[in-house]
Amino acid sequence: MTDYPHLLEPIQLGDLTLRNRVVMGSMHTGLEDHTWHFPRLAAFFAERARGGVGLIITGGYAVNRRGWLKPFAGEMRTRLDAMRHRVITDAVHDAGGAIALQVIHAGRYGYSPFNAGASDIKSPITPFKPKRLSAKEIDATADDFARSIELARKAGYDAVEVMGSEGYFINQMLARRTNDRTDEWGGSAEKRMRFPVEVVKRARAQVGPDFPIIYRISLLDLVEDGQTWEEIAELARRLEAAGVTMFNTGIGWHEARVPTIITQVPQGAWLPWTERLKGVVSVPVAASNRINSPGQAEEIIATGKADLVSMARPFLADAEFVNKAAEGRADEINTCIACNQACLDHTFRNRTASCLLNPRACHETQLVLTPTRRKATVAVVGAGPAGLSAAISAAERGLAVTLFEAGDAIGGQFRHAMEIPGKEDFRESVRYWTRRLEVVGVDVRLNTRVVATDLSSYDEVVVATGVQGRDLTIPGADHPSVVSYADLLSGRVTAGERVAVIGAGGVGVDVAHYLTHDAGEKIGDWYAHWGVGTGDEVGGLVAKTPRPTVREVYLLQRKTTPIGIGLGKTSGWAHRAVLKDSGVQQISGVRYDRIDDAGLHLTVDGVSRVLAVDTIVVCAGQEPVREVYDELLASTDTRMGSGHGVHLIGGADVAAELDAKRAIAQGTKLAAAL
Ligand code: NAP
Ligand code: SF4
Repeated sequence: MTDYPHLLEPIQLGDLTLRNRVVMGSMHTGLEDHTWHFPRLAAFFAERARGGVGLIITGGYAVNRRGWLKPFAGEMRTRLDAMRHRVITDAVHDAGGAIALQVIHAGRYGYSPFNAGASDIKSPITPFKPKRLSAKEIDATADDFARSIELARKAGYDAVEVMGSEGYFINQMLARRTNDRTDEWGGSAEKRMRFPVEVVKRARAQVGPDFPIIYRISLLDLVEDGQTWEEIAELARRLEAAGVTMFNTGIGWHEARVPTIITQVPQGAWLPWTERLKGVVSVPVAASNRINSPGQAEEIIATGKADLVSMARPFLADAEFVNKAAEGRADEINTCIACNQACLDHTFRNRTASCLLNPRACHETQLVLTPTRRKATVAVVGAGPAGLSAAISAAERGLAVTLFEAGDAIGGQFRHAMEIPGKEDFRESVRYWTRRLEVVGVDVRLNTRVVATDLSSYDEVVVATGVQGRDLTIPGADHPSVVSYADLLSGRVTAGERVAVIGAGGVGVDVAHYLTHDAGEKIGDWYAHWGVGTGDEVGGLVAKTPRPTVREVYLLQRKTTPIGIGLGKTSGWAHRAVLKDSGVQQISGVRYDRIDDAGLHLTVDGVSRVLAVDTIVVCAGQEPVREVYDELLASTDTRMGSGHGVHLIGGADVAAELDAKRAIAQGTKLAAAL
């Protein structure tokens, strides 16, 4: 008996039997491009195959050089390429899994001066103007796709996925926005559809009737002059007739100004369009985007909205996701919180992807938590992300760990984050840590404030006492209207109708969202606020409906740079858009003068003014909390006093620009070395 009978049911795709309906969607990890990284990539995939994933899909491999994602990007072009991929396919097969190669042509998204597209219209997210391909070159590109697919089969891949969404070349061929041709590859919707249909037909002719060809179809382009639903449905019918075995789904081009996968997107937001596609085709359809739990995945399949569920980032966070679900241990899953901080933000900055919650992701061969025979005792002081990762990882290695927490709950700064609208998933991390501490046998002592002498019997002491919000030092900082973000988010104080937020870092932006969020927002309102239509409109877009003004909020900083510029590359733009649409007044270059009963007095560009606010929330960064550490170093205990066996991590170590990614990675790496 299982809680997930539909999700765990096998499914046939051509000549391939998948052991379940869980697909690990394509992610570019940064390990795809050079063969010397292939052993690491193989280890990354093999760990997910051992974890029970039904089908793994690789990051995109270019079908030719014009289709590179960036200079010297991974490609599947020659027999030598195919041979080199054997290390990957063999590792996955040895681990009992199945793997598909994604074939891609980046088109005008290619971050390379050699990029090429349906037209020479430059994309807003790359600096390179694409070469406009001739009709003959487009024909040859279809052949290149077919050859890549055949080479993938030779390399031992069990299937291929043709990347037809997210605004890459195929998607560009399909949309008027980027295809202004008047030859046989453009001019009408029918001619624009020719390219992907030719790709599938030619590939099918090469690989025979049974090799699974998955096509990732764009269900909503979410850009002006994108496709209409009528065109997308017709494309799907033609692709099925051409030989597609299964459809995977994609939402939104990379240049779309509607968020599609970040944490503020409601879970399952895109399922209505997947369900609609299922009504159009008879081959299996996979749902994707903002799905992160086995319960949700089960429901999607059980209710017939899709036949399979594709999740990508959840497998960075937890390689064992499927096994845990299958073994009745779903409460042990480390749930992806859709923050993008260590995965997509890394990829778009040309760094190897990983996971904020699981720093071992893509570093499986480097960050190894080897079991230890050492009989050491470890005290961890502080149960925020740094202390939790150190305690759990040390216990996983077999060390005897005691975790001391002065407060009445674990989670540290995550407890504040989970109060932010759209960051509810952060609660899942607290659930995961709570359960994991139990499973690995950490002795957790809540409500226990320790001093140095309490720790003298431990062989190793890890101090992870975290941070406290920085106090204001301006005149009137002790005025009753001044509150800390911690007091606000923990519900100890309630903000008035007019609020000033001092400090516009990650926390200040979060607090501004918290203060202006419409608590009654439903999924329909979310679509309306972002201008998402039904799909029948061109590009699936309609005019945005204004957000209601909930409060008068000022978000302030002393720097003169635009507010929110330091936020994540793939999510910051969406946070900034919500602030603007919610009427948050953002003021940079501020000098804070004083606070009194009239409000917050400040000077901007030499002009003094007063913001007549009821509440002033201080989000001015953090200071490390180090009392215990300082006591340990000052202790007369010769071992502790010399710092031997004492380790300082997380915000208590460096508070400046502290984030959970650094804290968790530091805790895990320390535990690996104890
Ligand atoms: P932060 O990023 O350091 O921002 C605090 C801001 O307060 C500074 O940018 C500074 O801006 C201002 N400030 C500093 N000292 C001040 C003083 N004495 N008086 C008045 N203003 C002062 O800190 P945070 O916002 O607390 O965030 C902490 C960490 O968590 C950061 O790394 C952040 O990226 C991360 N985080 C990220 C997210 C996310 O969405 N990715 C969300 C929450 C937190 P000025 O000097 O310009 O005034
Ligand atoms: Fe998910 Fe964040 Fe990890 Fe990326 S970094 S996989 S979004 S939890």
